[in-house]
Amino acid sequence: MATHKLLLLPGDGIGPEVMAEVKKLIAWMNAHGMGTFETEEGLVGGSAYDAHKVAITDETMAKAHAADAIIFGAVGGPKWDAVPFDVRPEAGLLRLRKDLVLYANLRPAVTYPALADASALKRELVAGLDIMILRELTGGVYFGEPKTITDLGNGQKRAIDTQIYDTYEIERIGRVAFELARKRRNKVTSMEKRNVMKTGVLWNEVITQLHQREFKDVTLEHQLADSGGMQLVKNPKQFDVVVTDNLFGDMLSDIAAMLTGSLGMLASASLGEADPKTKKRKAMYEPVHGSAPDIAGKGLANPIAMIASFGMALRYSFDMGREADLIDKAIAATLDKGLRTADIKSEGTTSVGTSQMGDAIIAEMEKLAA
Ligand code: NAD
Repeated sequence: MATHKLLLLPGDGIGPEVMAEVKKLIAWMNAHGMGTFETEEGLVGGSAYDAHKVAITDETMAKAHAADAIIFGAVGGPKWDAVPFDVRPEAGLLRLRKDLVLYANLRPAVTYPALADASALKRELVAGLDIMILRELTGGVYFGEPKTITDLGNGQKRAIDTQIYDTYEIERIGRVAFELARKRRNKVTSMEKRNVMKTGVLWNEVITQLHQREFKDVTLEHQLADSGGMQLVKNPKQFDVVVTDNLFGDMLSDIAAMLTGSLGMLASASLGEADPKTKKRKAMYEPVHGSAPDIAGKGLANPIAMIASFGMALRYSFDMGREADLIDKAIAATLDKGLRTADIKSEGTTSVGTSQMGDAIIAEMEKLAA
């Protein structure tokens, strides 16, 4: 059996707490002959800043390049609000995404039956929901230059961010969208703002041409990103794969988050180009949520997003779909039993902490695998 090299980057706040549950799961899988995982750990975000005055060191970056997959917790917190911009905790995350060219961010929004009532929307709108928000992650306004604040000398300052997209960037994310759709319900909705932005015009054109050239069998529709946001809340089940740029994807995936009840439930994957020789993709897996400083250190965090992110690593990096399904089923079974962390608590359910939730999921896996 191939050995899979994982780099674990727990980060700050609840990051290490939810990562501890993934470590238990990895140990359980190793002990049960479900894959051979070797793990290394590194610092990122505020914890890296405290130790090394940078958000991630070159040594940790080298480990990230060498790993088969990176499992990332969360970074940030008020403690580091005043650190210089270049070494703020998020800079570690952005460097990983940029240096590993992780351009495709997959954010599934799945409503587990037991949690349909935890959504801000009516049960019938979200029960059985299973959509994928695909966000372009390495281009657009978060990285475009110039990115400056200039003192105009008259008591005014000018801030500039630059939104840039080249054809190849749109084409490669589009290709991921169509390929994902073919394995799902065969529909892609592309979202941009072609009515007011040149990048939107090009985005629309490139996706349309790619569809005509290579993916005519997939249904393609276009929506403006603002009305797409409304549609996500009004009738989310109309979507299968939604593909959009970095900025809109950041917002639309958070809207999708609320459809499923809690940030604590949402997993994500960030994938790069496949190596032509080994076919392996650089890949990082992380929960959508942040470091949740308000509940950090209290053992209250929901570990499901982190565990489900590890499940995505099995599916997309290691071709272990069966084991990934097992994790999803174990999560569903645990929720069916009424176990809930505080963020997804509802009447008549049993409150558990981070570690109990992790243990319960492993116990369900034990049963399902027997
Ligand atoms: P957040 O996701 O950390 O928290 C938002 C709310 O959701 C909080 O009330 C929190 O308690 C709750 N929550 C989040 N994850 C949870 C979980 N697993 N279980 C239970 N409840 C959970 O977002 P925020 O408060 O806007 O940001 C806090 C810090 O995290 C900031 O420093 C921010 O920059 C950083 N952040 C990091 C990432 C990342 O590392 N990828 C993402 C978003 C925010």
